[in-house]
Amino acid sequence: MNKSKKLVASISTLLIRRRISHPSSSTLRCNPLAAISTNPQTDLNPVKTLAVSIRRLQFSGRAFSSESSDKRISSVCWNCGFSSDKAAFLFCDSCRSIQPVDDSVNYFQIFGLENKYELEGGSLEGKYKDWQKKLHPDLVHNKSQKERDYAADQSAKVTEACRTLTKRLSRAMYIMKLNGKNINEEETVTDPTLLMEMMELREAIAEADDSKELNQIQSQVQENLKQWSDSFADNFESQRFDEAVKCIRRMTYYEKACEEIVKKL
Ligand SMILES: [Zn+2]
Repeated sequence: MNKSKKLVASISTLLIRRRISHPSSSTLRCNPLAAISTNPQTDLNPVKTLAVSIRRLQFSGRAFSSESSDKRISSVCWNCGFSSDKAAFLFCDSCRSIQPVDDSVNYFQIFGLENKYELEGGSLEGKYKDWQKKLHPDLVHNKSQKERDYAADQSAKVTEACRTLTKRLSRAMYIMKLNGKNINEEETVTDPTLLMEMMELREAIAEADDSKELNQIQSQVQENLKQWSDSFADNFESQRFDEAVKCIRRMTYYEKACEEIVKKL
């Protein structure tokens, strides 16, 4: 057995173990990786506090409003029949009844953002705050069971949207999916350079015996993640999707390394 084959085996074992230890990941609708990247301490995005605060919020029984910038999609209200040239996210513009989740509204549209990988600093947070201001905690209280159910579905979608867009990796995978490029997460990494680097990184993490050392490794990993995220953005914008997938593979490993570090810290 040559060295690179051994490395493939080790990484595969690691991946299998991860899947087993995260059974809930398979239940996430848009991106199984989102489940393994929800630790706020591993988050590298400046809006990390947003993800935390969203997880703490109880959306159930609340209603909210948002605008969609995409004029191509349309909707007809189930209650009054009002027809709109934009998807009615949350409310009917006419009778204000709560609408069912419209799957044609993507996560970027929920926050009034363009379908662009790179988010301007604070844009998601800003939009989320706008959206939060529109929350009316008592609004669905007196609504029918049907509308309360719709509201619960809508809030689940908003939570998932924010969680997905906040993280670089899950956002990259999501925008690829929007462009019809599904990432096969089962694919075994065979790039010997990457395998070697990841083995060394794992060893370094395993051998680090104080938080100072771990923090240094973490800074380096985060820097790498940022660089590959920038590289993903370039490749994605230029529609070099094969290269973009390679960037996602790198980002996946760095995210996992971050989790290993946080576990030890
Ligand atoms: Zn209506």
